[in-house]
Amino acid sequence: MSAAYEARVTVTRFAPSPNGPLHLGHAYSAIVAHDLARARGGRFLLRIEDIDGVRSRPELADEFRADLAWLGLEWTEVPAQSMRLAAYAAAAERLRAEGLLYPCRCTRVAIAHAAITQGPDGPVYPGTCKAARFAPDGDVSWRLDVGEALRRTGPLTWFDERAGEQVARPDLSGDVVLVRKDAETPASYHLAATLDDAADGVTLVTRGLDLFPATHIHRLLQALLGLPVPRWHHHPLLLDETGSKLAKRRGSPSLADRRRAGEDGRALVDSLRRGRFPAGITLDESLSGDS
Ligand SMILES: [Zn+2]
Repeated sequence: MSAAYEARVTVTRFAPSPNGPLHLGHAYSAIVAHDLARARGGRFLLRIEDIDGVRSRPELADEFRADLAWLGLEWTEVPAQSMRLAAYAAAAERLRAEGLLYPCRCTRVAIAHAAITQGPDGPVYPGTCKAARFAPDGDVSWRLDVGEALRRTGPLTWFDERAGEQVARPDLSGDVVLVRKDAETPASYHLAATLDDAADGVTLVTRGLDLFPATHIHRLLQALLGLPVPRWHHHPLLLDETGSKLAKRRGSPSLADRRRAGEDGRALVDSLRRGRFPAGITLDESLSGDS
């Protein structure tokens, strides 16, 4: 680890999507990011990831801010993703010009049928359209040629504060989509989040262990686009009684529900910080990134 890493002010972020209300799992994630920054005299950012056009409900962003204030957290808000579409398009164009993207017309169903291997996020795209290199007709997504990209960058590593040094294995996810068919939401999560973290000066990317595999891809994108390389802190996930990731648990109150019911948000944060979770909820302490 170079001294330059340590000299930088720690900047973390919480980056929720306004697709539904925040729940306890989100609160936990926000607290982890907030506290890591505060403990190091750094800054904690809020970024609204609002480019999932189909499901995005912009009015929820105000609820998120109210939730964070109710939890007693302080943050600096940076521009939402919908303000950054030109930057995503420019990065995609650069990769396209370098011959690292190819158009794909496959449907999700076709990929599921053709896929030979399972990756961390489901069937690995078998590269059907890579050999074809057909002329894009508009209704296509653009995939990253991971094999070619890795040949150009050479081996890459990244550092997770809990799991240690990692060798980047973006190949495990296959040729992921970077530019989606949907014109309203042009950039995939991988491209948008990687560019945003660089633009926002994030030095410590904190998020749940479920996104551990995505970091292999993000590390590759950083190398391809000449972006600074942060450190990562993938935190354990809160699980419900069935062992499933706690997200939008059926019937469980959202943070907004709790706030409106008059619950004490700071007391809730205090409990979560001490590892005291509501009945039926546990923290998955396994370090596996394979989930
Ligand atoms: Zn295809």
